Amino acid sequence: MCIICRNEYQNQSKITCERCPYIIEIPIIPGLIELNCIGCLNLRKIANIPGLKRLSCYCCDRLMQIPNILNLEFLACYRCLFVSKIPNIKGLKTLQCDNCRSITEIPNIEGLKYLTCNNLKIKFIPHIEGLQTLTCYSCLEVSIPFISSLKKISCSKGTDIPNIPGLKVHYWRT
Ligand SMILES: [Zn+2]
Repeated sequence: MCIICRNEYQNQSKITCERCPYIIEIPIIPGLIELNCIGCLNLRKIANIPGLKRLSCYCCDRLMQIPNILNLEFLACYRCLFVSKIPNIKGLKTLQCDNCRSITEIPNIEGLKYLTCNNLKIKFIPHIEGLQTLTCYSCLEVSIPFISSLKKISCSKGTDIPNIPGLKVHYWRT
């Protein structure tokens, strides 16, 4: 049982509950800045927690939805098999959503700098102005737009890369 199940989470700015099979829903926790709920196999819902800056909720097999938390800066939600949509989170800087096999598109998140979206069934990467680093290997048939701010792309061999000055490309073996 984790700190949330034990009801001992008040006045915490950072909470970690890894692999807790009991938790089903994470409530609003006032003052929380960082939440790591990783591999919680029965977790279905995370509340929209005001003021949260960092959310890691990867490998939560039954999580249905990512909350749209205003000014969340960091979101790692990879391998959440039932999450079918990434909200357009205002203020988000880093998004890691690899292996979310129900996702078919990524929103155009204004201000996003780091995007990791390996192994998704998406057709294109949105034209995210200001994006600096893109990692998108095993996204079959994905097309990458000309984003002049891009400094580094990691992708599968055969991906069509736009000709952006100064861009470093790293090809992954697939
Ligand atoms: Zn728990």
